Amino acid sequence: MRDFSQSHEQLSLNTATVRKQWKLDRIIDECARRGIGAISPWREQVVAVGLEKVAKQLRDTGTELSGYCRGGFFPAADAAGLKAALDDNRKAIDEAKTVNAPCLVLVVGALPGALDGKAAYKDIARARGEVRDGIAASLEYAKNVGMPLAIEPLHPMQAADRACVNTLEQALDLCDELDPGRSGMLGVACDVYHVWWDPKLQEQIARAGEKRLLAFHVCDWLTPTRDLLNDRGMMGDGVIELKKLREWVEAAGFAGRCEVEIFSEHWWSKPGEEVLDTVIARHKSMV
Ligand code: ZN
Repeated sequence: MRDFSQSHEQLSLNTATVRKQWKLDRIIDECARRGIGAISPWREQVVAVGLEKVAKQLRDTGTELSGYCRGGFFPAADAAGLKAALDDNRKAIDEAKTVNAPCLVLVVGALPGALDGKAAYKDIARARGEVRDGIAASLEYAKNVGMPLAIEPLHPMQAADRACVNTLEQALDLCDELDPGRSGMLGVACDVYHVWWDPKLQEQIARAGEKRLLAFHVCDWLTPTRDLLNDRGMMGDGVIELKKLREWVEAAGFAGRCEVEIFSEHWWSKPGEEVLDTVIARHKSMV
């Protein structure tokens, strides 16, 4: 296993971690100043600054990407909605290409409308079928452009509203079905927050292997968790065995960046400088 204790050269910052403190251009500068050599930005943050401007700033500061957030949300109530989702995913793939991302992360979606409290239907099997079809269609385009797609399984507490793919096994079954040749263009984003509890985690990480482990996201699971979305913990403050999980992904061949992704009202209320300095320290001591 790689030694992270002396340097944070393998650290990437998911920019949602400080999205309430700073706009993306400031985040890139603050990361560069601290030797954080990679980020994973969100589309709305990129759009707020300007795609071409962000691409140039990344080049000028020598900042790499560990992913681009995000595509997905494939299910819809009708044909027009399904088509709109595919169009939007094509756009996300193009954006990811412009900022030279290694993959586009997919939060695949679930019951359409559920996020706003008005699910258009309740048939989660139908949603999973629409996810499969949506990934299949997007993968064709992604292959042409050369942008790998990383399916991120989400914790089952988000199965209704954000993602009806909830385990690594389920995500890898989709990979087997849609990309049996293991082209490297379809894989998974392994986020410890979503999958740490899974009794099959180690075997499914091994099953994914180097070709399909496209991203590794870290934070921690707090007890108690006070909010289903925005109460993630800083590494070391919760109950996830981070070093053990990193050992598993590295044993499977993962050699990429470890991306710190913390949605947290607590950390959003702190000065951004303090958050980044804490991220670096915990990355050395706890990841
Ligand atoms: Zn994640």
